[in-house]
Amino acid sequence: MSWVSELARPDIVALKAYEHASWEPGLTRLHANELPWRAAGDESLSGLNRYPEPQPKTLIGRLAQIYKVPAEYLLVTRGSDEAIDLLVRAFCRAGADAVLLCPPTFGMYALAAQIQGANVHRVPLSMEEGFALQPQALLSHCTSDVKLVFLCSPNNPTGNLLAESAILEVIDALASRALVIVDEAYIEFSTRASLAALVVGRPQLAVLRTLSKAHGLAGARLGTLIGDPEVIALVRKVIAPYAIPQLTLETVLASLSASHLSALQGRLAHVREERQRISDALERLPGIKLVYPSEANFLLVRFEDPAGALARAREARLLVRDARAYPGLNDALRVTIGTADQNDALLEAWQ
Ligand code: PMP
Repeated sequence: MSWVSELARPDIVALKAYEHASWEPGLTRLHANELPWRAAGDESLSGLNRYPEPQPKTLIGRLAQIYKVPAEYLLVTRGSDEAIDLLVRAFCRAGADAVLLCPPTFGMYALAAQIQGANVHRVPLSMEEGFALQPQALLSHCTSDVKLVFLCSPNNPTGNLLAESAILEVIDALASRALVIVDEAYIEFSTRASLAALVVGRPQLAVLRTLSKAHGLAGARLGTLIGDPEVIALVRKVIAPYAIPQLTLETVLASLSASHLSALQGRLAHVREERQRISDALERLPGIKLVYPSEANFLLVRFEDPAGALARAREARLLVRDARAYPGLNDALRVTIGTADQNDALLEAWQ
C-alpha cells in the first residue's frame, strides 16, 4: 500500500469515483440528459446547455506551463477554498484525525477542519521574529493524528513570507508522515519564486495557487491544487464531477494569454510600489503603532485606537478588514492595496 493511501481516509481510498458522462467533443451528446438548444441569452463559446469538461485539459495544460509543473500534478477547483475543503475531506476522519496550522493565519484551514469534524492543532508563528515559522516547535507538535499541515506563504493576515529553509525542514521531516500544504495565494506579489516545482519528487508536499489575487479573477473562482499524481487522483474522487463552470473556463483561458500575462506584470509592479508608498505614509501617521513589512497585496497595521480607525475608514466609505480577532492582533487592521486614489482616500481618512 502506498504512503498516500495509508495517510488518507480508508473509505475514500476504497471509494469508486463517480463515472461522469464521457467527454468526446467530436460526437453528438445524447448521453448526459442535456437540452440540445442553447438557453436565451447564452453567449458562451460552447453553449451552457452542455455540461463542462471535468478537469478541462486545455486549462490544466496552460496552468501547468504557468506554474512550471507537469499537468498530471494539477487539479483545478472552485477557488483554492475548495481545494482546502477537499483535502480535509479526503484525508481526515471525523473525530479521529487532525490538521496542524500556524496562527495567526488564513481562517479556512480551521473552518474546513471543523466542518469535517477533524481536530485542529495550533503552533503559533513567532510574533517576535516577524511571524516566522518555528519548524522544531511544529514538528514536536506533529502527533500521529495530524494528516495535513497548512502553511501560508506569504501569510494572510501578516503579509510575510515563511523562510524557505524552515518550510523545507518541515517537508523533509514529515516525509511519509503527513501532507504539507503550502498556500501560495499571494506569491505573485512577493520577491520569492513558488515552491510548486518542488512537488515533483516530494509526494508529502502540495501547493495551492489561485487566480483570485494577482490575476484579478476572484469572481471566476479558479484555484489549483498542485500535488503528487496520487494525491491528485485521491482528491479528484471527492470533487464534484463538473466542478468548473463553462463560463469560468472560457474567461480564464482568455485571460491567461501571453499578452494578458505580460500586462499583469505591470499591475504587480504597481501594487508593490503602492504597498511601499502606503506603508511609508502610514508609518508617519499619528495613532499608528506598527506597519508590518508585507510581501502580499495587503498591509497589517497596529493602531492606538483600532475601533476609531475602522469607523473613520467607514465614514469615508472605505472597508478595511478587522484583524482584532486573530490571536495577538487585538489592535490590528488589514488593509488591501487599492488604486492610488483609493489608497490616498484611506490615508486622508486616517490623517
Ligand atoms: N488562501 C489564502 C491565504 C487566502 O487569503 C484566500 C482568500 N482570501 C484563499 C486561499 C482562497 O482564495 P480563493 O478561494 O479565492 O482561491
